[in-house]
Amino acid sequence: MFAKIRKIIDNGQDFFISTHIDPDGDAIGSVFSMYWALRSLGKNATVYLKDQVPYRYEFLPGPDLISHAIPERVYDAAFVLDCGELARIGEGYENLKRTETIISIDHHNTNEGFGRINVLDTGASSTGEILYRLYKYLGISLSYEMAVNIYTAIVTDTGFFRYENTGPKALLICEKMMRLGVKPAQVSGMVNGNHPKERFLLLGRIFSTLRTFDDGRVAMAYVTGEMFEDTHSTREYTDGFAEILREIRGVEVAILLRQVGDRQYKISMRSKGTVDVAEVCGIFGGGGHKNAAGCHIDGDITEVETKILEAMKR
Ligand code: 5GP
Ligand code: MN
Repeated sequence: MFAKIRKIIDNGQDFFISTHIDPDGDAIGSVFSMYWALRSLGKNATVYLKDQVPYRYEFLPGPDLISHAIPERVYDAAFVLDCGELARIGEGYENLKRTETIISIDHHNTNEGFGRINVLDTGASSTGEILYRLYKYLGISLSYEMAVNIYTAIVTDTGFFRYENTGPKALLICEKMMRLGVKPAQVSGMVNGNHPKERFLLLGRIFSTLRTFDDGRVAMAYVTGEMFEDTHSTREYTDGFAEILREIRGVEVAILLRQVGDRQYKISMRSKGTVDVAEVCGIFGGGGHKNAAGCHIDGDITEVETKILEAMKR
């Protein structure tokens, strides 16, 4: 697959790079590192993100211009990174189908293999880790701009080396990125220590909805549109909260429900150990990883909770 990608890059000039909606650190770090990689090879790269860069990742060096609509033109190839389904890059994804060569590079179990080229390594900690190997294969010498993006991709997807996907390769790559000038305390300071006060006002409200089920093995909490309004918060302020719920003793599955429409909730599930939440989210048309997955469910809060608990029993 890497040999095919090398050929495609060698033979092309204009590339498109994107990732999933609601981008996390791996998504942003992967896209930005690929931008610098293609630039270092003398290629043009258009970065498309449906959403704005979340405030936690604004410090990452990326292109001056990010496109928020998918241009109707045809590219020599499109890189879709850290994204299991093409539709998850956001509205207008159909436009991209004009580009024949779509290259999917990902580590999600539920990846649908939508590319012409699919590099899927579900054993990789992050898409950033796979990209590091690709850049080495391509003989690219890594700049600081690339290193800090790769580092951030890996540390955010491993929860700063706390999750089960933390392996020796992830640690070794991060050591190399440090040698290229990456400062772990600085990255952690930007990602974990630079929150707006409103986030904590919102978290207070969310904490007060916490309930457990199934002898304390399932923890659930929710955020309504009203709570977002009251605390002048947006959805990105809840980033990382499902992970906090998983920290409760005895909890195997943590579920955060965020209202996104009149009768629709975005669900984030996190698990410890063997429970496969990607399978549970799959029942509702979503997906992700064994220990971190998401989906959308229609209904009011009580209906959505009931649907989830029934699916969990299955
Ligand atoms: P989060 O809960 O933070 O939105 O997502 C957790 C993980 O599940 C991420 O890897 C994310 O890409 C994936 N994910 C979240 N929502 C969906 C969804 O609706 N469909 C699919 N296929 N993956 C999702
Ligand atoms: Mn990822």
